[in-house]
Amino acid sequence: MSHFDITRAQAKAWSILARSFNAGRVASTYLFYGREGLGDWSLAVEFAALLNCEKPVPDAEEPTISYPCGECPPCRSVRGLNYEGLHFVVPIRKHKKDDEAIDLTNEILEQKRKEPLRLLDNTAATNIPINLAREVRKNLTRRGSEGVTRVVVFYQMEKMRTSSADALLKLIEEPPQDTVIILTTARSEDLLPTIQSRSQKIRLNRPPEQMTIDYLQSEYGLSETQARLVTRISGGVPGVALELAGEVDSEDSSRRGVGLLLFKSLFAESGARVVSQMTELINYTDRGQVKDILSLWQSLIRDCALHAATGEEDDLVNVDYTPEIKRLSPRFADSSVAAAMASEIKNTLADLELNVHIQAALVALALKLRCAVEAPARNTA
Ligand SMILES: [Zn+2]
Repeated sequence: MSHFDITRAQAKAWSILARSFNAGRVASTYLFYGREGLGDWSLAVEFAALLNCEKPVPDAEEPTISYPCGECPPCRSVRGLNYEGLHFVVPIRKHKKDDEAIDLTNEILEQKRKEPLRLLDNTAATNIPINLAREVRKNLTRRGSEGVTRVVVFYQMEKMRTSSADALLKLIEEPPQDTVIILTTARSEDLLPTIQSRSQKIRLNRPPEQMTIDYLQSEYGLSETQARLVTRISGGVPGVALELAGEVDSEDSSRRGVGLLLFKSLFAESGARVVSQMTELINYTDRGQVKDILSLWQSLIRDCALHAATGEEDDLVNVDYTPEIKRLSPRFADSSVAAAMASEIKNTLADLELNVHIQAALVALALKLRCAVEAPARNTA
């Protein structure tokens, strides 16, 4: 059970939601926007709990804000994701039959029960299935049970096809009684303008860093130093920090973990940030560590290029990093990327044998690798 207090982590969003509830002015459609991992799922669930709670608890200092009690039957079943009035439509991978769609949706609910902050697996292409969206809409035309405020969450709207969005639009235009629709997205500007204009937008922000640090320590057993480091590298996004946490948890694997973290940074961060992370994570006086990291990068490049070319996972060297490799492999679709990266690393490894200044050599390497990674993106743009 998660101990990440989302009402505190997203205090501003919560105050808007809770105030509208207390004033009896709950909107029929909300649009939660902000990057994945900031807690949109938990926020939707907690709001659903408040809407159905038997005894909401007012804030001690700010009575216009309240919280779900967490103990009444509706609160419990909402948080357990098995409340009759709570529905989720989530992006799932390609499937043939409708019951498969239900199984895949249930898998995601199960993951979210365990850790609502965890990012959805995006190694395979997923989208919000139109059939489930239609099904939900049909259900909502029936009357709900007495006293139940139904909450329907369309999670990650950016994964919804336009045809499905049309079906959703009808729902938003004629909202059923006692129903609140919550849409979430990382990119609100991509949604149909009609959807945007009919929803109340709620922006999610980065939670206070210390909350994520405390959470990683209490729930994932990280040391204070590890937790702080991971939180910083995640850019303050708790869901991303959780993913990284798994990589630094044991002392044995920490060197490998550091190597992987930095490798991933090359694809996600600016050159300046990669360099500052390297300075933080690498001991430049330890030539052995530096060589290990570069060798790891070489084998990760081979794995990513192999996966990009064949789609196979069986021949990967870094089996333990299969999900990361699958996630990065699209960046290697252009085979010149792997070639350019590999040759830069090879040159740097040779330089290291010549007693060059290690830090300077690595900084130069990181910047060259960043260029190699960005090159195909520039060409197609
Ligand atoms: Zn309650």
